[in-house]
Amino acid sequence: MPDRNLGLYIHVPFCRSKCAYCDFYSLAGADELMTPYVDALRAQLDAFSARAAGYVVDTVYVGGGTPSYLGAARLSGVLDAVRGGYRLAPDAEITLEANPDSVGDWFAELRAAGYNRVSLGVQSADNAELRAVGRVHTVEQVADAVSAVRRAGFDNLSLDLIYGLPGQSAAGWRRNVEYAVGLGPEHLSCYGLKLEPGTPLYKCRGALSFPNDDAQADMYLWAAEALSAHGYRQYEVSNFARPGRASRHNLKYWTLGEYLGFGPGAHSDFGGVRFAWARDLKAYTARAWAYSESARITPEERAREWLMLCLRTADGVGLSEYGERFGRGFDARFLSECVAAGYAVQDAGRVSLTPRGFLVSNQIIGRALELAASPYA
Ligand code: SF4
Repeated sequence: MPDRNLGLYIHVPFCRSKCAYCDFYSLAGADELMTPYVDALRAQLDAFSARAAGYVVDTVYVGGGTPSYLGAARLSGVLDAVRGGYRLAPDAEITLEANPDSVGDWFAELRAAGYNRVSLGVQSADNAELRAVGRVHTVEQVADAVSAVRRAGFDNLSLDLIYGLPGQSAAGWRRNVEYAVGLGPEHLSCYGLKLEPGTPLYKCRGALSFPNDDAQADMYLWAAEALSAHGYRQYEVSNFARPGRASRHNLKYWTLGEYLGFGPGAHSDFGGVRFAWARDLKAYTARAWAYSESARITPEERAREWLMLCLRTADGVGLSEYGERFGRGFDARFLSECVAAGYAVQDAGRVSLTPRGFLVSNQIIGRALELAASPYA
């Protein structure tokens, strides 16, 4: 059997402080656990390596949390453990998530260690907006961080932005997008702010003023158009890239590729089983690795997942592919209605959502899934 490709996701659950909107698994004030945590990560990478013997690792994504907060030696050690236990493709995409306040000339060491892509959490180009959601960096640090990343030799840089921030105006959002484009990234992600229950922002939401749904929709559509005009192709609901610079690792999630996750809260989809590690840093560091979930994926779930994920991407759904992959027909009438209404386009047997369709993708995907579950007429 030929080698199969595999992605590795490595979670770093440390942050300098918690942002007000964040519900990712990360802790502030746990720095004393960083070194034992990396030791535990390396041990878990070793422990799983035999299972990945028939695979070539073509993407590694070190995410968080704030991976750049770990420093060069620990981050290089993580990559050493990957190289020691896995067959790493020579052209593997190796991404590091970073925050602007923990980037510097030491990134040259990361480049030398093999990292070749940086994803920087910019979020806004307005210091008042950054402060309003508890971000600890400033816009000035963003510019310095981008310069340091480039000086270190990274030619693949992604910037994250958030729209819908408290007090944000349409003009303010446009300035943020133009500022980010001006920094010359190869890739941009634009996420709508989500008010997650349990976060500080959720608790004080009544005292703040947010752009309403219509205003946020306009922000999203404006960004999609502006980024397209600047040469960034929208290849997923929230992601835009210069030609050839789509995130290969994230594409695995959207195309049902296999990946293994390491660290508390990390998810895997491997060998037909989906599993996740418990969100418990102390237990993980003590190497008491426990699953928070583990389940074999049924063919029905796989078919649903495939449909849902394909509709999130600009490549969309291949209408005959569904039958070929899952052995059942697919009623495309609803998607044809979406095409007629301007929410989707059809080309060469594929249906993909337009930016207007992406904006309501949850509703479209929900309806497509309902229809896929019903008997084919
Ligand atoms: S830096 Fe990222 S992971 Fe850390 S608290 Fe802020 S949003 Fe969450």
